[in-house]
Amino acid sequence: MGFMDFLSNLVPIELFRGMALTGGYFFRHKETVQYPEQRVEPADRFRGMFGYDLERCIDCSLCAKACPIDIIFIEDHVEVNPETKKKKKIIDRYDIDVKRCMFCGLCELACPTEPRSIWLTTKTYETSTYERNDGLYFFKERLAGWEGVTPYPGVVTPIDGQDPKNPMSKLPESPEAAPEKKE
Ligand code: SF4
Ligand code: SF4
Repeated sequence: MGFMDFLSNLVPIELFRGMALTGGYFFRHKETVQYPEQRVEPADRFRGMFGYDLERCIDCSLCAKACPIDIIFIEDHVEVNPETKKKKKIIDRYDIDVKRCMFCGLCELACPTEPRSIWLTTKTYETSTYERNDGLYFFKERLAGWEGVTPYPGVVTPIDGQDPKNPMSKLPESPEAAPEKKE
C-alpha cells in the first residue's frame, strides 16, 4: 500500500470532494420558479400553441400537405361574384388535431404568406385539458380565439392580430402593412 492510499484510508478525501461539489450548488442561482404564480419565458423559437389567421390564409393547403401525420383538415367551396364573375375560395373548415401534433413546424415552413398564416412561435404552452379528444381539437374559430388556452402573459391572441414574429405585439393595421404573398 502506497503512502497516498494509506492517507486516503485515513482521511475521507472523496467525501470532502463530494461535499464541496454539493456545497457549490447550494449557493448557485436557482432555476426553479413557483409555477403558476411565476413562469419562465420560452425562447423566441419555442414552438407552442398554434396561431392561425383566417383573413391572411389563401387556402392553398400547403400546410396540410406538408404535415407528415395529416392532422390539418381543410375544406372549402368556390363562390362566384355575380357581377364580376370572379371566383373566390371560401374556407369552410380549417381544423388541427393538436393532440397528435409533434410540433415539427413543417406546416409553418410551408405557408407561403408573409407574415405566415399558421405559426407555432406563440410562446404559449398552457393547453392542458381533462378531455383530450374535444379539448385539443381546434377548428378555425377556436384557433383564432384560443378558447380553452391560457396565453403566455403578455401574448396577444391571433384574433387580436398577433404578430407571428413577436407574439407580445400586434401587427400594424395600416393598409401599407397589409400582408403580401411571398414571391
Ligand atoms: S407542427 Fe403539427 S400540424 Fe404542423 S406539420 Fe408538424 S405535426 Fe403537422
Ligand atoms: S399554407 Fe398557409 S395560406 Fe396555405 S392553407 Fe395553410 S395556413 Fe393557409
